[in-house]
Amino acid sequence: MDDCIFCKIVKGEIPSTKVYEDDTVLAFRDLEPQAPQHILIIPKEHIASAAEITDKNSAVVAHIFETAAKIAHDLGFADGFRVVNNCGDSAGQSVKHLHFHVLAGRDFTWPPG
Ligand code: 5GP
Ligand code: ZN
Repeated sequence: MDDCIFCKIVKGEIPSTKVYEDDTVLAFRDLEPQAPQHILIIPKEHIASAAEITDKNSAVVAHIFETAAKIAHDLGFADGFRVVNNCGDSAGQSVKHLHFHVLAGRDFTWPPG
């Protein structure tokens, strides 16, 4: 997707602070962190949102959660973190490339707003 910010980050056309990368996923720090640790994990393949996950592309979602656990251990917050996906405008999805927020380093309220 030529006009997708996160595809540009994958291609290195927009700089990011990378935390983890392999053939299929990229993890980088959120530009506007909402917690002391705020990392975005994305598939390198453009998937517009969680509503576009199918049996053809869902393997990467499992890998994203494996990556979240690895990052949590590596960065020392495996005892408590939150994984968030905003899907669609009403849920506050501002970037239309599937991404999971991994937040840690403070207490979180429930239910979310
Ligand atoms: P959403 O609101 O779609 O769930 O989350 C999008 C996230 O992407 C936001 O937390 C926002 O701060 C982050 N973001 C938007 N543009 C950039 C960027 O160019 N670089 C980085 N690192 N984060 C971005
Ligand atoms: Zn994209």
